[in-house]
Amino acid sequence: MHKDSVISIDMGGTKVLGCVANSKEGIIARVKKPTDPNSSRKKYVHQLAEVVFDLIEKTHINKKKIKAVCLGVPGTVNPETGVIGLAPNLGLKNFNIKKMLEAEIPFPVLIENDVNLGALGIKTFGVGKKAHNMLAVFVGTGIGGGLIINGKLYRGSNYVAGEIGHMLVEKNGPKCGCGRKGCFEAIASRTSIVNKIIKDIKSGKRSTLSKLVKNKERIRSKSLLNAVKKKDKIVCKRITEGCDVIGGVLASISNLLNLDMLVLGGGMIEALDFYMLPLIKESFNEHVLNDSAKGLKIVASKLGDDAAIFGGIALAEEFLGVRV
Ligand SMILES: [Zn+2]
Repeated sequence: MHKDSVISIDMGGTKVLGCVANSKEGIIARVKKPTDPNSSRKKYVHQLAEVVFDLIEKTHINKKKIKAVCLGVPGTVNPETGVIGLAPNLGLKNFNIKKMLEAEIPFPVLIENDVNLGALGIKTFGVGKKAHNMLAVFVGTGIGGGLIINGKLYRGSNYVAGEIGHMLVEKNGPKCGCGRKGCFEAIASRTSIVNKIIKDIKSGKRSTLSKLVKNKERIRSKSLLNAVKKKDKIVCKRITEGCDVIGGVLASISNLLNLDMLVLGGGMIEALDFYMLPLIKESFNEHVLNDSAKGLKIVASKLGDDAAIFGGIALAEEFLGVRV
């Protein structure tokens, strides 16, 4: 017999991952389903409902034991009303997903930004357990952040706090996906680091990744890892530059908020934490005020994509008062 649980769903444009989870048994079951990015809202929500029912069938869990369905949304949300403000990768805007999904399933639906959920998961079930004031930073396609202040997720006045990816780092710098210039993620995300490496290679510099670039293959975190292991000069140089910027931005944030923990996650950090963390720390120490850094720990998240799944457990407790 399984214990009381939540269903957490990580929403993506091309696939969704759903899990049944609780704090005693961890993740009990997973279901991954491809979704059609061009489908209608109704169809998309229906696909989410199917994931919920697939999970119940897979685990044979009594429906009464499911206390909430928590959605991790890659975009802006209002967790009080259940409205998605804007989720560009899902093509959703001003959409009350809570209402529409609750019409299809017999469970309360909660929503939160996926990065915030990741931070909640790390705080409740990961390396951040003992942290009071923590920032979780995820480096990948972009750079996202989730803030925990006094043990609680800090959402800000319009629920958009934590958007560190769009902090200005370089005036008139490279163009960002948000339309502005010189944002943090336009300079130090995996996407921007990889773009610089590709540019280097195309300009004639030699790299172990030359073949990938020539064949127009995607450079994933794993390829970067292999290149670093081979001490590839171009790759190491560009990643070091990125880490220098990341360390500097984290130092500024630490000076502002005086945190006790900085957690780094996301695909790139997971693959390269042994290489990137020391570089980030070096730059951080160079830029931070001594008193602000006192007792502060910089660590890698070990939860991967599961961080947001575990975040659903914390969300259910916050909004429904249920402990699972
Ligand atoms: Zn931006």
